[in-house]
Amino acid sequence: MSKHPVLAALVLTLLGDCSGQFAKALEPEPGAVFVRLVDTGAGLCCVIKTDNDTAIVYDTGHWNASGFRALQGVKDLFPTTHPVTLMVLSHSDSDHLGGATRILEEYAVQEVVHSGLEPVSQTSINTLRAISNEPDCDDINLHYYDFPEGTFTYGDTKVTFLCGWHTPPEDWPLTSDGERFNAGSICIRVEFAGKSILLCGDAVGRHLNSPAGTNIATEKYLCDRADEFPIASDVIVAPHHGANNGSSERFIELVDPDWVVFSAGHDHQHPTAAAAERYLSSGVPISQMLRTDRGDDEPGGFEWDEGSEPGHVDPPGDDDVDLLVRPNGELLVDYRYVDFLDSPSEVRAEIIDGVEVLEVVRAHPSRNVPAWVLEAESKSPEEIEALDRVPAREGASRTYAGSPSSSLKCHERRCARPGLLRRLFGCRARCR
Ligand SMILES: [Zn+2]
Repeated sequence: MSKHPVLAALVLTLLGDCSGQFAKALEPEPGAVFVRLVDTGAGLCCVIKTDNDTAIVYDTGHWNASGFRALQGVKDLFPTTHPVTLMVLSHSDSDHLGGATRILEEYAVQEVVHSGLEPVSQTSINTLRAISNEPDCDDINLHYYDFPEGTFTYGDTKVTFLCGWHTPPEDWPLTSDGERFNAGSICIRVEFAGKSILLCGDAVGRHLNSPAGTNIATEKYLCDRADEFPIASDVIVAPHHGANNGSSERFIELVDPDWVVFSAGHDHQHPTAAAAERYLSSGVPISQMLRTDRGDDEPGGFEWDEGSEPGHVDPPGDDDVDLLVRPNGELLVDYRYVDFLDSPSEVRAEIIDGVEVLEVVRAHPSRNVPAWVLEAESKSPEEIEALDRVPAREGASRTYAGSPSSSLKCHERRCARPGLLRRLFGCRARCR
């Protein structure tokens, strides 16, 4: 037995033991479809790169950081010289429009489909203005145009417009303006190589206190027409960030997802335990339910507590979720690896005064600069002292991860990895 089990384990991992190498971060591949749910905090932003390299943006996230986070999400996948062929803004709430003006400023956006954006906030006023000022852009405003129902193809990627309204039907049992705006959400289904993802904005399917079995408004509309316009999907981005007024049972049954992504942040107690439970009881494994607010802990008792760390305020930017669909139909879903660079050479183990120290250079979760992280098994004064003696790396900000930080979270309860490696490499399938 090595005197230094952590180091031994690391070396074994670097040599490719434990059934393989480091699991690779998901990345766009030629001929494949790549989708990124950008962690903008309590908002929704989805960037799609189709098999023929078309850029599609569905919603543009929260207005925090002046919308730059959504812009960065697009920039991470497309240079600004690349046109955005289609932008869909599901509805008029600012947590879905936050980065629209930034993206319109920096990219040539060729087509925008939006609900007509009641100017209820400065964000929506600015967005309307930016769309109308965008040169050579088709402005499909549902206030003036019929909903473009049906399927459009980009390469072999199909985008089906399922529903969307400027004003949802009057006979829907909606109880407030806010709910009306949400219920009109433009819903689309993206399909490639037999795999599909459903995006529903803040669609409404029930009321907060509805009895089990309730299925109303947007979700009922989608369910009622599912024979003609299928909604069954491998991946669903849960309506309304996992709020309890969406994800009704009938809707979940017809969508029948294998994966659920909650685009949530530290606000509104999203995703709710009630919505998460409905997906779980429909058979979605807990390991295939991802959230852009990993570790978040909000007071109030409604938030789903899976993976939450007491008192943790989850920041935007550290929990993007990536999907890759290969032409052979293989579907991969995982959190974006922003924590660590992929190259094993970026990890160095040292023994300093008998203390095992691991050095990692990783991308800073919210800024594109390398951060330099030192870890030791426990936080004894001797170990902290030993960490201090490691010379700083040039060009990187120096960070001591004396305790698991928000970006080093473990979200799976049953994890075979020892503490240190788990914190360093994440517990999920670095080494399947
Ligand atoms: Zn929303």
